[in-house]
Amino acid sequence: MKYVLRMGCLVLAACCCGLSRAAEISGANAEVVVAPDAPPATRFAAAEMTNYLARVLGRAIPLSTSPTEGRYAIVLGTNAWSRAAGLRPESLPRDSYCVKIGPGRAYVAGCDSPTQDPARQIAQGWIGKFERATLFGVYGFLDRHAGVRFYFPGELGTVVPAAPSIRLTEGSYSVTPRFATRDCYLHGAGPYPGVDPADAKSQRRAKAVYSLLLREETDRIPCCHGQNRFKIAERFSESHPEYFQLRKNGTRCIGTKFEHNWMGRQLCHTSKVWDIFREDTLARIRKGERYVDIMPQDGMSACMCENCQRVFNTDDFSLASGYATELIWSNTVAVAKAITDAGLDGGVSQSATVMSWRGAKGGIAALTHALAVSLAGKVRVNSISPGWIDTEYRTYTGPDAAQQPAGRVGNPMDIANMVLYLCSDKAGFITGENICIDGGMTRQMIYHNDFGWKLEK
Ligand SMILES: [Zn+2]
Repeated sequence: MKYVLRMGCLVLAACCCGLSRAAEISGANAEVVVAPDAPPATRFAAAEMTNYLARVLGRAIPLSTSPTEGRYAIVLGTNAWSRAAGLRPESLPRDSYCVKIGPGRAYVAGCDSPTQDPARQIAQGWIGKFERATLFGVYGFLDRHAGVRFYFPGELGTVVPAAPSIRLTEGSYSVTPRFATRDCYLHGAGPYPGVDPADAKSQRRAKAVYSLLLREETDRIPCCHGQNRFKIAERFSESHPEYFQLRKNGTRCIGTKFEHNWMGRQLCHTSKVWDIFREDTLARIRKGERYVDIMPQDGMSACMCENCQRVFNTDDFSLASGYATELIWSNTVAVAKAITDAGLDGGVSQSATVMSWRGAKGGIAALTHALAVSLAGKVRVNSISPGWIDTEYRTYTGPDAAQQPAGRVGNPMDIANMVLYLCSDKAGFITGENICIDGGMTRQMIYHNDFGWKLEK
């Protein structure tokens, strides 16, 4: 064993000198190794590695319970071999993994739940919150070393490039997700391509698979209208009416009944109601909650009280006023600071409101430009701005269709075809471009009184 470790040190030293060495794996010499006592999540990761490597290399890859002499073993999970090789995934943040590539063996290890089984959960059509970082390591390894890409659900969005062999540069690295919260609303969407839309069970299974491929968070951080949990209306509508939004007609937005729109349960966010959010948040964290969600109710709009109007000077009853973003974020930062000042180990969560959403939209164009230049020679970078795309392939008639120069509403294939084209060699001269796919809608020239259009002000 000492010999093996010394070899490892030599390899690292060689990397530092810039003399990187590489191993070559192929269908003839590769194998995937998982310890016989590995938990189900690690075994699932091993099955995925075997499956995708076989698709890349065009040949079945053996799955063994110990390294075979003369084969290049990709050892998965935490076990005696990975520990001997110096891998310590337990010292990394949640959902991180480490990889070590040596001359005769590679290791991919992350922390895995000892009991939860992804395969069983997929069969049932859902994925729970449990650690599965070795699986994240497998997808990351396939992406980094074999060029496999998981863009969007189904075979159409999965790219598995065929290759006679894969070159693995020797060395070690670890990967930690950039964000603790990684959730995708595809969870609530459908139908999934390539799966019968009428088969609800298969649809749920496809969603579960994609939740794994996307490497979604494994630790739940609540972020969905958490302000409702503080029961402000129930506790303060009598004693503190000033906590509630003042409407144009002079009445306060007080209601104990849950109404999921702007008419009900809106607060005055310049009032002292945020003292309640702050103190209650501190109390809940002291009681053991790790994250307290202080996201407001949907449809937040400007309060007409003097304080709110002095700050924002708007009667724009829409989210677009910027009122939500500035006020809610500054209050959220103040609560976060109070947690830090109190020396507590906890956090608050808040959703990005419309200004951030709009900023992000513009940011995509700027990011496309910057990445295309920074990554020039390595990869081309383009973005797509979709118009009205019906993700359920419904057919529209009448004005909905006729108003679009293309004569119809778009569908996901309109976008997917452009993605395929941009990723192909045919688009080799296109980079840094944003492509608008909207049936020509944003190219419409609309004048007052044309085609029945009227400006009414
Ligand atoms: Zn107000």
